[in-house]
Parts: sequence; C-alpha cells; structure tokens
Amino acid sequence: MAVRNNRLSAEEYQQHFSDIHPPFETRDAALVEANRCLFCYDAPCTKSCPTSINVPKFIKQITTDNLKGSAYTIFSSNIMGGGCAKVCPVEKLCEGSCVYNFMEEEPIAIARLQRYATERAITEKWPLFERKPSTGKKVAVIGAGPAGLSCAHALSREGVDVTIYEKESKGGGLMTYGIAAYKVTPQFCQEEVDYIIAIGGIEIRYNTTFGKDITLDELQQQYDAVYLAFGVGLARQLYIPGEQLDGVVDAISFIYDIRNSGFPAVPVGDQVAVIGMGMTAIDAATQAKRLGAKDVTLVYRRTQQEMPCTEAEMNIALLDGCKIIWLAAPTEILGEDGKVTQLVCNIVKLEDAANGRRQPVITDEQIILPVDMVIKAAGQMPFEELVHSHQLNNDHGKIATTSNGVTSIAGVFAGGDCVNGGKEVVDAVQAGKDGAKAILEYLQHRNGNNDGNHL
Ligand code: SF4
Repeated sequence: MAVRNNRLSAEEYQQHFSDIHPPFETRDAALVEANRCLFCYDAPCTKSCPTSINVPKFIKQITTDNLKGSAYTIFSSNIMGGGCAKVCPVEKLCEGSCVYNFMEEEPIAIARLQRYATERAITEKWPLFERKPSTGKKVAVIGAGPAGLSCAHALSREGVDVTIYEKESKGGGLMTYGIAAYKVTPQFCQEEVDYIIAIGGIEIRYNTTFGKDITLDELQQQYDAVYLAFGVGLARQLYIPGEQLDGVVDAISFIYDIRNSGFPAVPVGDQVAVIGMGMTAIDAATQAKRLGAKDVTLVYRRTQQEMPCTEAEMNIALLDGCKIIWLAAPTEILGEDGKVTQLVCNIVKLEDAANGRRQPVITDEQIILPVDMVIKAAGQMPFEELVHSHQLNNDHGKIATTSNGVTSIAGVFAGGDCVNGGKEVVDAVQAGKDGAKAILEYLQHRNGNNDGNHL
C-alpha cells in the first residue's frame, strides 16, 4: 500500500475529470427541452431558488433564441448563475420542485438550460450590465468568493467603488477552491470572476489576508462601509487517537490541493477511507477514486436518511465505485512507523432523542478497515478567532448579523459562510445581494438623502 501522486496518464486524468454534466450538444436539443416547460404561473422552481431566478422567463427567452435576454434574466437575480448551473444541488432546489415531478416525468433540465444561456454570455463576454455613474462612495469587501463578488457587483451597478481583499491568488472562493474539479473547471471559475468584475468599479487585491495584511480599523478609516465575506475554512477535527499520523488529511485541504496544484501533483492512497457524508466528503471520495485510489470507503455514523448530501451526489460516489459503511463511527486510527494502516470504527445505533433527531449511540462492536489514507470530512469550523479579535458579536464563532447582514459594528456588514456556517454557493450569492442592499441603505441614510436615487 502506498500514498503517491502521478498515478495516471495525462489522458486518464483528462477523462476522469471531464465535465460531469455536459452541455446541450446542439441548439435544437436546448430548444426542445426549453419547449417542454409549462411556464407555470407561481412557478415553484423560482420559489425554491434561493436567489429567486425567474426560471419560466429565462426558459421562455431561450425558446425565442433571445439568449442575451435569458442570460440577463438569470444574472439579474444571480450574478454567479453560470457557476451555479454547474454546482447547485438542483435536485433539492429548482428541478426538485418542477411540476413534472408530480406527473412522474423528468423535471425540466433547468440547470442545463441555465448553463446554455449563461456560458455563451461569459465566454463571449456579453456586457449585459451597465454601471451607474460613480457616487464617490467606497466599500471594502473581504473575500472574493460568491458572497463577496455578488455584493461587489450589486454595489458597483449602483455606482459604488469596491475594493475586494482576497487572501488567495485567485477569486471565486469555494467555487474555485472547494468543489470537485469535474463539476467546474478552474478556467471557468476564472472566466466567471473576470465576467463579474468586467462591469468596472471593482478592484480585487489578491494575496491579502484580513487581520494580517489589512485590519478592520484601517478599512473603516479608508472606506464608507465594509462587507465581510471571508467564509469558513477550518476543518473540524475528529479528536480521536492517531489523527496526527502520516496519511491522515482533511477533505478541504485535499480538494484545495487538487484545485490549486493540479491532478498529478496530489498524492492519494490505494485504500482510502473518507469520514462523513456531506458534499465535501463526496467530492473528496470521488476525486480520490478518480486520482487512482483502488478502494474508497465512505464511513458515516448515521443512515442514508440523515446524510447531508443529496441522493444524486451519493450516486456519483457509488457510480465511481466508492463503498459506503453506514452506522459506523471512527474511534481510532492505527499506524506503523508513523503512517496510517488501519481505521477502527465502532458500530453505532440510532436512538430517539428529545430534539426529534435520532442520536448515534456507540456500541462495543468494532470493524477495522485496512487503509493507507484517511480523509476527514466532518464539517468546517468558522474563523472564530477572527470574529472575536474584531469584537464582532458572534453566534458560536460565526458572525452574528440581522437578516440583511448588519453586524454589531456600525458600517460593517457580513454575509455568506462566515455568517451561515457553510451553505451552498447560491445561498452566498443571495447573502451578497442582501448585504449590498443593506449597505446602499446605510450609505443613503448616512448621506441624509432619502430620494432613493443617489447615495
Ligand atoms: Fe417550467 Fe417546471 Fe418551472 Fe413549471 S416548475 S415553470 S414546468 S421549470
């Protein structure tokens, strides 16, 4: 058994990480699908979209070949509608609520149609939005992820000058660094960021860490308002013996390395155990398999009924040949010469609890998995230290805000994963919109100008 990199040929990497949701091959295929839509009044697909994209409208626009109008409809609600078309868990959002499900027919392929409209707009750089004349107001945004970009774009449209401070060397946040490469390519992520900032009035300063290279005090002095969207990122520890052994990694770093260093550079074992059943766990497991691992086993302490990932996500892992062990909790990692060799799990029983959620109770019965790599995907923790050190009110380490992103400090707003603890990209986009709205109201109020047109 060995953990090593460069296991496959260039062609195999290319094949294993090619687009899992290919686009429509022809215009006709897109039009046929678009014409299936019933253009429902009170469309449930729109209601289930966290950014409220007008789905029947953009689909209708596709049927008349009005792709610019269609892309505009999508981007007006969700400026990352291109990326969301690739990474959203649509089976539990828009497509999951499409009325065709009740007729026991395939729901409309909303994500694929959304991709059809937005991809052209992004690759051909259609200038669909115009920025209002500059108001002279300046806002600093921390983090060039979905919440930060969405907030920045909405502010820039209203003539506010935005500077985004980003600790990484590329923008896109979770989209660029935290999602399986077969769902969205680094090239697309870059194009999407470029498309968003092409509106003008948005500068991104990369490799700049909040709290280290730039402080909140400095930002408050230099800008009229600050929007914090620094996400979550710290992997939750298991707190079991053997966690420090060579070959034990966390899923967030594993996925980050794949996105940042390229497929051949990332070492993977022959026998890999992935702990967790969230989307990050699935992305780690499937990518470990696609990097050349022989056996990948997901270990989860509850059942399929309670798993955080969608059934569609789980099926990707199963189709890739990953196995799943339900009702098993890792209790110890064993090794030899400092390297991991076995994962000890105790069988779990679920018992009814007062809060209505069945609680896992660990039994004495054990199973032992031979492994040379363990990937921990037991959730993420907020940057609690960052929140505390800036005297922001916090909610278990996350920034506490009102519903529109107002924090406990005047002129400082926050949204996305650093507030909600880690949700979907589409939720972060909506948070960015809400934050921008609150900031615009704040700037307007501060100016004592309530005519609703100027800041
Ligand atoms: Fe079209 Fe389905 Fe939405 Fe109705 S629910 S508007 S059929 S996508």
